[in-house]
Amino acid sequence: MKKATKVMALAAAMVMLAGTLTACGGSGKGGKITFGTNAEFPPFEFVASQGVIDQYDGIDMAIAKNIAEQNGMTAAIENMEFDSLLVALQNGQIDAVIAGMTATDERRETVDFSTTYYTATQVMIVKEDSDIATAADMADKKICVIQGYTGEICVQDMGYPYEAFKKGTEAVMELVNGKCDVVVIDSATAQKYVSDNEGLKIVEDASAFESEEYAIAVQKGNTELLEKINKSIEGMLADGTINELAVKYTEAVSEE
Ligand code: GLN
Repeated sequence: MKKATKVMALAAAMVMLAGTLTACGGSGKGGKITFGTNAEFPPFEFVASQGVIDQYDGIDMAIAKNIAEQNGMTAAIENMEFDSLLVALQNGQIDAVIAGMTATDERRETVDFSTTYYTATQVMIVKEDSDIATAADMADKKICVIQGYTGEICVQDMGYPYEAFKKGTEAVMELVNGKCDVVVIDSATAQKYVSDNEGLKIVEDASAFESEEYAIAVQKGNTELLEKINKSIEGMLADGTINELAVKYTEAVSEE
């Protein structure tokens, strides 16, 4: 680092430190929980002109804010690719992941998950006139998934070829433009895309797609944070907060 840059970095660090000290007066060391997310997953997380945490809005963002506040802290969001979230968590770049993330056994090998707060399933989005009625009907179709999502793993396990996209919106555009026949993605998010785009419908196949439990991930062994998160989630499940948020954001996104 050049000297001038160093001085500036130091000054910036001091300003940030001063900010932290005044902003969390009394709440003690580490008054902030930095949540990583991928804000491409409505109604759980998306970018809005004004969100609950900065420009980030959605069910998960409201949950994250409540968790922080109930523990006398503030919530910050780091928005990144879905695929990078668990690595960023392991590196300590973020404290927790809240991203409509399914608690899978594979992911449990590297991180710890909170109490689950939402149950979803994979569904198929197809054109209204599609003849796809079951997952097996995808066999000779062009399938689109989103990279690193559980939908990709499901299609992989079924042994079908597919194309993976970075964002749900990109995969749905392929479908709208007739370049693919089916998008496999989580149910609530699929609902949002179907209400946003003409001529699409959802096909479910409960025998092919298992239910998935969304949970918040923390670094393995971070029981201190995990206990705080679990306590908040349990409270929000018991008093209906999470249910209300799900209704609110599902209605809001389908009315747009
Ligand atoms: N539930 C899916 C998964 O865990 C998708 C999550 C997401 O895209 N944010 O892979």
